[in-house]
Amino acid sequence: MEKTQHKPHCLILPYPIQGHINPMLQFSKRLAAKGITITFAVLENLHTSADDEFSSSISVETISDGYTSATRAAALLPEYLPTFQKAGSESLTQLIEKLRERGRAVDCVVYDTFLPWGLAVARNMGLFGAAFFTQSCSVNIIYYSLFKGLLNVEVVEREVLLPGLPELGASDLPSFVLDRETHPGSFELLVDQFEGVEDSNFAFVNSVYELEEEATDWLKKFMSVKTIGPTIPSMYLDKRLQHDKNYGLSLFKPDDTCMKWLQQQSPKSVIYISFGSMAKLEEQQMVELATTLKLTGKPFLWVVRSSEASKLPQGFMDEASDQGLIVSWCPQLEVLAHDTIGCFITHCGWNSTLEALSLGVPMVGVPWWSDQATNAKFVMDVWKMGVRACPDKGDVVGHEELVRCVKCVMEGERSEEMRLNAMKWKELTKGAVDEGGSSDKNIQEFVSTLMGGET
Ligand code: UDP
Repeated sequence: MEKTQHKPHCLILPYPIQGHINPMLQFSKRLAAKGITITFAVLENLHTSADDEFSSSISVETISDGYTSATRAAALLPEYLPTFQKAGSESLTQLIEKLRERGRAVDCVVYDTFLPWGLAVARNMGLFGAAFFTQSCSVNIIYYSLFKGLLNVEVVEREVLLPGLPELGASDLPSFVLDRETHPGSFELLVDQFEGVEDSNFAFVNSVYELEEEATDWLKKFMSVKTIGPTIPSMYLDKRLQHDKNYGLSLFKPDDTCMKWLQQQSPKSVIYISFGSMAKLEEQQMVELATTLKLTGKPFLWVVRSSEASKLPQGFMDEASDQGLIVSWCPQLEVLAHDTIGCFITHCGWNSTLEALSLGVPMVGVPWWSDQATNAKFVMDVWKMGVRACPDKGDVVGHEELVRCVKCVMEGERSEEMRLNAMKWKELTKGAVDEGGSSDKNIQEFVSTLMGGET
């Protein structure tokens, strides 16, 4: 790449779901703070909900996935992905050309690895291409091993031994590895993330080197891995940076009445429950969660998205209105950072896991799909910041098990160990993004490359 005379310009291409938009937008803010111009390319449904907070440093532009809001909702993955690839490649190329004509030439496309064609577009236009992984390095090792044919799931019976990882049981593997039928197209999407990555200029991972040293070092042998996390707004890592408090672009409307309610609770007393933006729990699981909350008697804040609300047991909130609060979406970072939160019952989505690790909140993992089981395994056995709840029958985790887990995290002997680990990981993740920390250095290296023209 030629030495850039103008301010370097990155185009960021996230897959259009909340758990991918959040870390990529936050990464964009870090780059913008270091002098990089950012264009964030999203679908029309998100563009309209753009927040003003970051608009001075980051412009939001629209690309197409070939669908409208109405047709997208009904599209299944095996049909959605190729349509998106075609319409997305065309509209992204047009966008980059348009920006060039306007004197805002793009230098690098940072593409979500769920959209591996982003690299092909970058290359065709003579630009840098940098991959962005929204899952951990450890989970990357599992998918990469499948991509390279190093792991044959047909023969997975008991333990799986992979380089850089602890021994994993079948139930610790990402769900789509062994169950490909229930969600067609998901396995291929996850494995195809590595298409071309070995040749990309950088492969960013939203993780922290010190959390996964061995796994990161192993991946580095095959691709230019740079851990750059945790991608949470700076305010939560340094209270002086009040301006950067929220992620910025949301598909859901947060209800911040819960912050007032939290103010009235005692320190470390509240159970916070959220299963992220996509999980669709079985009705019986909602019943078990509700029973758990009643049995513990502890104050709770429960996020139940509007699309899930009909699964709540009838009358539950009338009975429990003195005990807790249900909201359809909350400002999760503000909630996790609040000192009244004592336990997080979570699906262990990677963002939620990293947020809880960074803000020092012990977890009860109730994984639903995808890499969540693997994250839960690490939370319990590697980072020792929580426990994983085991399903009784089928996929539902019963209330007895949930009550046991909550007690273990909030009151039991192990809660002290978790509390100490919470302080350790909080310090360590903050250190990674502080100036000169492992993630900051990796971001700086990328910025210097863009500014100086070295690859
Ligand atoms: N989140 C939020 N408010 C909520 C629930 C979730 O802001 O009420 C955010 C959360 O902080 C995280 C993201 O949504 O950044 C969810 O990502 P995650 O990877 O945890 O789960 P996914 O939604 O992808 O399953």
